[in-house]
Formats: sequence, structure tokens, C-alpha cells
Amino acid sequence: MKASYWLWVALLLSWLSVPTACPAAPEGPTVYVTFWFDTEDFILPQADDAAKRLAEMFTARNVQATFKIVGEKARVLEERGRDDVILALARNDIAYHSTWHSVHPTPSEYCRDLGWHEGVSEFTRREGVGLDTLRRVFGVNASCYGQPGGSWTPQSYGALRAFGIPLYLDETSHVNVKNRPFWYCGTLNILRLGDCVLRTGWADEEVKETCDKFDRVHTSLIGEGGGIVSIYYHPCEFVHEQFWDGVNFAHGANPPRSQWKLPPLKSPEEQEQAFRAFEAFLDHIVRHPNVRLVTAREIPSLYPDRVYSHPFTAKDVRAIADAFQKQISYVEMPTKIVSAGEGLLALSQFVAGVDGRSKPQEVAVEFAYGPASRPQRFTAEGSFSWEAIRQAAKELVEVTQSAKQLPSLAWVAGEPVRLEDFAITLASIVVSEKYTGEVSLQHGELDAAKYVADDSPGLWGWVVFPDGFNAPAMMELAKLQAWTIKPAKLR
Ligand SMILES: [Zn+2]
Repeated sequence: MKASYWLWVALLLSWLSVPTACPAAPEGPTVYVTFWFDTEDFILPQADDAAKRLAEMFTARNVQATFKIVGEKARVLEERGRDDVILALARNDIAYHSTWHSVHPTPSEYCRDLGWHEGVSEFTRREGVGLDTLRRVFGVNASCYGQPGGSWTPQSYGALRAFGIPLYLDETSHVNVKNRPFWYCGTLNILRLGDCVLRTGWADEEVKETCDKFDRVHTSLIGEGGGIVSIYYHPCEFVHEQFWDGVNFAHGANPPRSQWKLPPLKSPEEQEQAFRAFEAFLDHIVRHPNVRLVTAREIPSLYPDRVYSHPFTAKDVRAIADAFQKQISYVEMPTKIVSAGEGLLALSQFVAGVDGRSKPQEVAVEFAYGPASRPQRFTAEGSFSWEAIRQAAKELVEVTQSAKQLPSLAWVAGEPVRLEDFAITLASIVVSEKYTGEVSLQHGELDAAKYVADDSPGLWGWVVFPDGFNAPAMMELAKLQAWTIKPAKLR
């Protein structure tokens, strides 16, 4: 069934009434709060009404939440003729939560044994279907993506940029930079916020405790100069006793649609209590001074990245070189934060541009993913001529610009050199300012890789995964993308 004419008129009117501009920064530090709902249960019809009721709670207060919607959920809303639910959701922010969520194979399952490029293309193929449904039903692109359950993959990031989705919003421990927002693969991430993630249970005492906790977090974030709080729920959990996917798809189970079971419901009194508890929590936050609710669509403008809009000066390049000598990781400078990969590209551009005694005044870099694979072979040691290093730096910049991705190796005088070794060698050249003679290769490690979790059973604890699921090669791939990691700074 197609969305009816009046639905489109109503959607158009709702977009006109929705605030889309970035919120003006108020005076002094602000605590931004983002409410998001993983809107995923396409089996239980009562979950549709729960989503509508929550969406209307925000509209009634003239604020918005972000609804991360599963493609199949958008499709069944249309099939069930729930234009009222679609419209209520459209008055909030529309975001994306995969095509099928828990139907196997989930993203981590199908990306587990794929390399970077194959994984990006498989994620694009499978998850592009639900995204197209979402765009058709709601008439907008998704403002953010977050994985189903714990089904995170590094390859999803390669697809998100092509999907035009600038934000990854979820809560998981696969990548974490000090429990605050960060950049990974050129995408802004709110993925692990530690104390700044809040949820309340349904009992009145729990609401009171969580409101008190919010006040404490608010005070500490004001002390940091402002920050963001992430609050998430699922519409279905307001009405069910057990999650729809735990009932049907746990431990790798994958029954056909004809055998899907409805999850058990809460009693009407329990449902009312759940909505009332949430409403009290919402009101506590909405009425709090120095708080601003923001949607996923507004968040990227709060975290500008000045690396691509402002070139690096020779002084900046020297600061990167100094920092790399201590560790190969992101570098915090007064006006911008530079990832290890951006730092390597800035050093390479700079060294490539040295001509006799003249050095570049400034260099610009473009975004690039981390390498697609780790070299399996022996790599070079010893020393090379300055000219061979300069040529290799020039080649590294050219290869990266054409592939939009760092290569796995640098080639110096025909010999393969580990990227980490090349990075620290360039740093030592820039620090010593010796652009002549022989250069000894230095040995380095990518320190930023520590922000990406090691593969472990705890990482894959989601009930939907087959028992014993792990993904060691995929997490190795994720660590290669640590070249792109850096904290995101609130404007
Ligand atoms: Zn979910």
C-alpha cells in the first residue's frame, strides 16, 4: 500500500513546522540532551501505538526526540495503514536502525569474515534496502544510524558516508574515546558516554533516583564547559514483558515469518506506569535550566571539525611531529584535533613539499579511511636516502588521495615500510629539520588502536548472536581504522 495523498500533505506540513536549524548556542556552558528511541519491533502491533504516544509526548512539549527506525518497521506501519503513527514520528527526527535488525544474518554476522571493501559493499547492499524504505515512507534521509543490538561492524562506516549519514548514535563498547563523543572513519560517534548515558526504570523511586543522577551529571558537564547526555529507550519496552527478538531470534534462531511469535504484554496498569514514569523523567529534563534538547540531525553542527576547512601551518606540522615522537595517536592543538591518519598525511604533504632549502608554508589534507588490510610480509628496516623518503611521502599522498584511504604500506626505494614506522620516521625528520643525507627508519606503533576493543566474548554478549560468536578478524580491521580516531570537541 502506498502512502496516501493526505499523508504526504500532512508530512509536508509537519516538516514546515519542525525546527531544523541548529540551536543557537546560549550564553555559558550548556548541557545538550538527546533522546532516542530504537523503533524496531515489527511483530507486536501494540508497539506501533507506543511509538505514537512517545512521539506525541515530545510534540506536546514543543521538543523533538530521534526515532531510529528499522526498515521493516517502516514497511509494516505502511502495510497496517498506520499513517497516524508515521505522521507522529515525522514530527520528530527520523533516523535509521538497519533493514531487519535481529533477523539473521545481522551486520556483525555477515561482515565477520569479509575484508574492508567487501564488507562495505555487503553492508550497503543489505542495509540500503531498509534505508530506501525509510526515505520513501518518511520523505527524508536518516539523520543517524545505530546498529541492531550489539551487531557493530567497522565496515558500516564505509557505507554511512555514502548514505549521507553523518552521525553514528548508539551505546556499545566496540570503540570508546574516554566516554565522550569522537570521530571514527570520518563519522561523528556518540557511542559510549559512560556516566552521561541515562535510563530510568518504571518505578516512581527509580525515576526520582535517575532525576537526581541527571542533576549530578549536569553539574559535572557544566564544569567541563558543557557536553551531551544520551538517553535511549525502545517504544516496545513500554508495552511488552520481553523483547520481540529475544522471543524469536535468540542464540542464532531464525524461524520463518509464519512461525514468529508475539512477545508477551505488560498489564494495562504496568503499561500506564511505564509511560507515566518516562513522562516524569522527560519533564524533569525539559524544565531543567541550562539544558537544550537536540536531535541527531542537530548534533553534527555542535561538533565542527576544523581539520578540512583550515590548512595546517608549518608550526602545526611541527606540533604533530613532536606529538608523534611520543605516541602515534590523535593530536590536540588549540584550534583543532588531528587524527593519527590526518597527522601522517600532513607530515607526508609537508615532507613531499620540501624543495632544497624551501619548505611549504602550509599544507591541506583530505579525509581518508584507515588501511583496508594489514601487511602480512616482512617490512624494511635500516636507512634510506632523504630523497627516497621524500618520494615515498609524495607517493603516499597521491595513493591516499586517489583511494580516499591510507595504503597498508609505504614504499621506500622499492621496499615496503610499515605505515607506523613511516609516520614516526617522517616525524623525526621534521623535528630534526635534516632534509638531506641518510635517514634511519624508526619503529612505531599505532597507539590510537587502544581505543578499539579487542575481540572478546564480552563484546558479543547480545542474546541474538549464535552461542560462542566472535569476530577476531573484524576487530583487527576495526583497529586499522584507529588511524581516523580523535575526540570530537563541542563548539
Ligand atoms: Zn535495536
